[in-house]
Amino acid sequence: MNQVTSTEKAQQPPASPPHLPSAVFEELEIVRDPSNLFHQTIEQVLIAAEHVGMRHHQKIILAQPKNEIMVHFPVLMDDGHHALFKGYRVQHNNALGPYKGGIRFHPHVSLDDVKSLAVLMTMKCSLVKVPYGGGKGGVKCNPRELSTEELKRVTRRFCAAISNQIGPDYDIPAPDVGTNSQIMAWFADTYQLMMPEHTRQDTHRIVTGKPVEMGGSVGREKATGQGLVDVLKEMLPELGIDVAKCRFSLIGFGNVGGWTGRLLCELGATLAAVLDHTGAIHNDKGIDAEALTTHVAETGGVGGFHDAESISTEEFYGLELDVLVPAALEQMITSKEAALINARVVAEGANAPTTPEGDAVLIQRGIEILPAILCNAGGVTVSYFEWVQNKTSTVWSGEDIDERLNTHMILAARRVKLAAVKYECDMRTASYCAALEQIAKVYDLRGVFP
Ligand code: NAD
Repeated sequence: MNQVTSTEKAQQPPASPPHLPSAVFEELEIVRDPSNLFHQTIEQVLIAAEHVGMRHHQKIILAQPKNEIMVHFPVLMDDGHHALFKGYRVQHNNALGPYKGGIRFHPHVSLDDVKSLAVLMTMKCSLVKVPYGGGKGGVKCNPRELSTEELKRVTRRFCAAISNQIGPDYDIPAPDVGTNSQIMAWFADTYQLMMPEHTRQDTHRIVTGKPVEMGGSVGREKATGQGLVDVLKEMLPELGIDVAKCRFSLIGFGNVGGWTGRLLCELGATLAAVLDHTGAIHNDKGIDAEALTTHVAETGGVGGFHDAESISTEEFYGLELDVLVPAALEQMITSKEAALINARVVAEGANAPTTPEGDAVLIQRGIEILPAILCNAGGVTVSYFEWVQNKTSTVWSGEDIDERLNTHMILAARRVKLAAVKYECDMRTASYCAALEQIAKVYDLRGVFP
């Protein structure tokens, strides 16, 4: 415990009642910053923990990751100089199984954001009942500015730097923003080559989201979008919305946004507008998601798509919709965007896309929020299927995977609805409550060693 001076004591607010999230922050000596994503996430989890009657020591355990790994590694760049990169792997909790979570390549990757995303993985895996804990990783870099060879060297050096801290039954990374199946292929290859030769064949399940030819699962690419569509099919009818006739917009048109767009359009829904890092586009009669995918693959973004008009960000948020799907980065819907949104439902494809202030405005305006740990859990679910196939040397069909995914997603959606009734709370809090019920039960059964 740090020494507290008499001046500090005089400035300290009175101690919080032990059931409030602030009591946990105080005990762990975390100076709460309302704009810090990790603090926001922990606070939301602690509020739900209070609803489910979680024990104090369990709250304390969940309020900090088990391990925070930070590495610096040099990479030879194409022009001959060596650049130093910073990477993270955060292992939040493994009470339910090995740590599991993506690796992000993005210039804004920070330790606190990775910690927050790792917490969300712990919650998500528990909610959707796959036997994993939560982890997350990232490298601070801009993959758009790296050549293919540089990207490969960054991936290989990062893998080497953390290889002693991960393992195919201990901590299993996957793709996230800025990473894809090619990067997972380089990662798996590097890890395998670093292992003793006689164990190599069994170690390609060190990552999921691999190319199908390298042991990846059929259906992993589309899994997060497919899972989101499965959730919408379960939830929208009760809100009086027909999925096949709904009008929706997307923030982000990468893996999650692109697949969600194509799958919803296949069902007959109308894609009214898309916003990404290159701008916002709109077509009142509907955007052809397939043609937009080709355009994004060729140009890198939705800006300049021929069959849509360019609109401002304000106009994008103000469009009248049934569903808005944020599928880009964190914290994009603040109170400002929330005040503009003219949709009946916000279905969170991205992790933590809504700030607590944005959340409050949406709730106050009667807009239903379908939370991220439910909506985007399809990715980790099919990652789990990939891992099981690798472990058992089996290959499942696309139909089998779609069916199993659908079962996981629908049951998770129903768990959230039941928790919302049981604990009389909003859907986000309910999703954490449903996740925490299982984690609390496991900690009750295990106890704390010794
Ligand atoms: P991606 O890299 O494939 O796509 C990211 C998208 O965000 C791109 O379309 C990009 O243009 C857009 N974007 C970036 N900056 C933006 C900005 N300032 N304004 C508007 N758009 C911007 O990433 P992804 O894999 O689709 O992941 C998107 C989100 O979904 C992330 O929060 C990620 O953690 C989450 N997620 C992904 C998966 C998965 O399987 N890929 C699974 C669960 C959750």
